[in-house]
Amino acid sequence: MIDVPGIFASNVFNDEKMRVRLTQDVYDSYRESIENGTPLDLKVANEVADAMKEWAIEKGCTHYTHWFQPMTGITAEKHDSFISPHADGHVIMEFSGKELIKGEPDASSFPSGGIRATFEARGYTTWDPTSPAFVKDNTLCIPTAFMSYTGDVLDKKTPLLRSMNRINHESVRILHLFGKTDVTRVDATVGPEQEYFLIDKDVYERRKDLKYTGRTLFGARSPKGQQLDDHYFGAIKQRVKAFMAELDEELWKLGIYAKTEHNEVAPAQHELAPIFTTVNIAADHNQLTMELMKRIARKHGMVCLLHEKPFKGVNGSGKHNNWSLSTNTGENLLKPGKKPEENTQFLLFLTAVITAVDDYQDLLRLSVATAGNDHRMGGDEAPPFIISMFLGDDLEAIVEAIINREEYESQGKVVMNTGAEALPEIRKDTTDRNRTSPFAFTGNKFEFRSLGSALNISCPNIMLNTMVADVLSSFSDELENAADFDAAVRRLIRKNLKKHRRIIFNGDGYTDEWVAEAEQRGLLNLRSTPEALKKYTLKKNLELFKRNNIFNETEVKARQEILLENYINIIDLEALTMLDMAKKDIFPAVSAFTGELAETIRRKRAVSDDIRVDAEVKLLSKLSDLLSQFSDKIDELDSKVGGSIAYRKNIQSHAEYCCNEMLSTMTELRAISDEMEMCTDSKYWPYPSYGQLLFSVQ
Ligand code: ADP
Ligand code: MG
Repeated sequence: MIDVPGIFASNVFNDEKMRVRLTQDVYDSYRESIENGTPLDLKVANEVADAMKEWAIEKGCTHYTHWFQPMTGITAEKHDSFISPHADGHVIMEFSGKELIKGEPDASSFPSGGIRATFEARGYTTWDPTSPAFVKDNTLCIPTAFMSYTGDVLDKKTPLLRSMNRINHESVRILHLFGKTDVTRVDATVGPEQEYFLIDKDVYERRKDLKYTGRTLFGARSPKGQQLDDHYFGAIKQRVKAFMAELDEELWKLGIYAKTEHNEVAPAQHELAPIFTTVNIAADHNQLTMELMKRIARKHGMVCLLHEKPFKGVNGSGKHNNWSLSTNTGENLLKPGKKPEENTQFLLFLTAVITAVDDYQDLLRLSVATAGNDHRMGGDEAPPFIISMFLGDDLEAIVEAIINREEYESQGKVVMNTGAEALPEIRKDTTDRNRTSPFAFTGNKFEFRSLGSALNISCPNIMLNTMVADVLSSFSDELENAADFDAAVRRLIRKNLKKHRRIIFNGDGYTDEWVAEAEQRGLLNLRSTPEALKKYTLKKNLELFKRNNIFNETEVKARQEILLENYINIIDLEALTMLDMAKKDIFPAVSAFTGELAETIRRKRAVSDDIRVDAEVKLLSKLSDLLSQFSDKIDELDSKVGGSIAYRKNIQSHAEYCCNEMLSTMTELRAISDEMEMCTDSKYWPYPSYGQLLFSVQ
């Protein structure tokens, strides 16, 4: 039996440990600077650093690292040892406040989108004291933000922290208008549900595509897929159970509240849901969770696939970003509640989210845009590319009633007049049915479901916090000057709901009718990453970021460029991997098998003319045809890869070329291969089949 409370957060230098290890004075000034967001005094920082170092050494650490999240990749670390030379030739273990607060990793190896010229390869990291330091692999990890010497942000943490400040400030401002002057802080809270696949390591090792790109680029359907839903309802397999137990334990030690783990719809697919927490910590925790999943799976002879769509024809993996706002007084601002005066407040926040999602559909869409997620979205298993909101029957009826100035009746009990003074408690069961919606109200929070499984959750949350803060700010501007506050709130709610109702959609998001209707409503349908990323630099978006001090124009452009470059690199790598597999493995295999067929035909014919060879001839002819088409497609893809040189000068058109020209040829090449795989002797096929991959863990 594990002593869960005993090990929980044992690897984290959290508030409790600080209180024990710091003097009262130092602890108080540390808390104060966190609560007010003011810089730490150097003397305080020195003492915190020293206490942290002592604790880390007790835990067996010799090194420390500023742990940060550059714009691509998972996380970055640069390890330094605590060792410091002493005058008499000895070494002592030292760690100063300056080292705690600021680090100087060589920034030249991290993408900057042209912000930081390589000769100016310096950047610095600054401690995020709101996310506690932790121990991993005998190293003290200090969660940090990363920026260039000119102050331009180079990571995902800095803008996330900035957006948290904005949503905090604007939410508090609104709440004060409602008379809640005891509220001094509002945090965005997030619980990310993480999906992933586990497959056997030996099978994985025999698939170049999985190894190089994280997804299968070839592979015919397995006769057994997810038709029976038996994996979802089935018991968790022993090996997976052992993996989950170890993962839980390691996560708990890091203070991560891993709560539920279960199988998902697809074979070999699973999910982990943590208990929600403040968004910057949730983001750090999710990065750590993904890292640990990969590492612990290996220890159990398995590989954890975090790609959004590792297998064609099988559900991909997503990450549901459950988002809400909570006050320091313990109130969830997205909880409908029962009291009339709170209902108006809830409706105002709800209206702000509806307004923001409608005005910034493009930002939400592009915040989840990656090459991998493009394969998952819009495929009848994940929300479509069109951003819309699901409110559930109760809430939608209320919204309609407000817009139409009608009386609203729920279950014949609660009657609400046009001013929305009363609101029935939202029944949670009516809000969770629609799985097809990208952005669903689920009782006391919104669930943004478009995120791919591999995504760092920072970007979508930067968008959410910023755009909702911006709308709240305009609401406050309007309300602060109102003579009659109640009437002004009511008017504001109604006006905005009316204006933005087009974003609300409770129907089935997977249908063609919705695509047509969404177009009529004027909603965006950005079907690819390059198309979505193009919107990043629209004037209204640049202004939003600037107005809220999240990014300046250079930073937005840099981000856009990095994401486009990343997209291009992925498609390029996939195309090259496909060509390698096609030429070196698949073509020779099919050619050898057809050779064997021809030999069989010849030998049978030699025995007697009466022996039928029509079956072999039919198959030989089919495979030979396919092989010749395959060879033509290889040439076509080869020339498309070469042709991309013409686009090197313009990153947007280069990405569009990858999307429109290369991907389609890759899909065609795969289709031919998959058809050949279906009728080629399995002992000739060079790779483990989908069946072997998906059912490899028993
Ligand atoms: P489900 O019915 O989907 O299982 P849960 O209520 O268990 O819903 O929540 C799913 C995820 O949402 C969990 O990670 C949970 O911690 C998170 N969550 C719950 N409440 C909030 C909240 N107020 N803010 C952010 N996330 C939340
Ligand atoms: Mg959920």
